[in-house]
Amino acid sequence: MQHREDVPGSVYLLHLHPAYQHARHYLGWTEGEPIERLRIHLSGQGSPLIRAVVAGGGTAILVRVWEGETRKFERMLKDRHYSPKLCSVCSEHPHATRKEANRGTPEDR
Ligand SMILES: [Zn+2]
Repeated sequence: MQHREDVPGSVYLLHLHPAYQHARHYLGWTEGEPIERLRIHLSGQGSPLIRAVVAGGGTAILVRVWEGETRKFERMLKDRHYSPKLCSVCSEHPHATRKEANRGTPEDR
């Protein structure tokens, strides 16, 4: 693994469908094209999480890309748990995630 925190690349957000256990999103960083990275993920050669989703018959959708960002930006988003708010699938179709949201806590809006 490389730790080049200041190298600009693309931070991308994948929406997992269906959710895998508690994971509904995957936030990653790549120096190349996010769509290429997604293809690697879907072929099972990227993240173990996405490999497990695909193995279970699910898929991952590329929902957002931030170009010219570093891994620091990726980690900031992860630390703040921004993924559901940033995801166009989740924000446009909140009813689609009702099953996973069955925790007794109201949405914060
Ligand atoms: Zn989502």
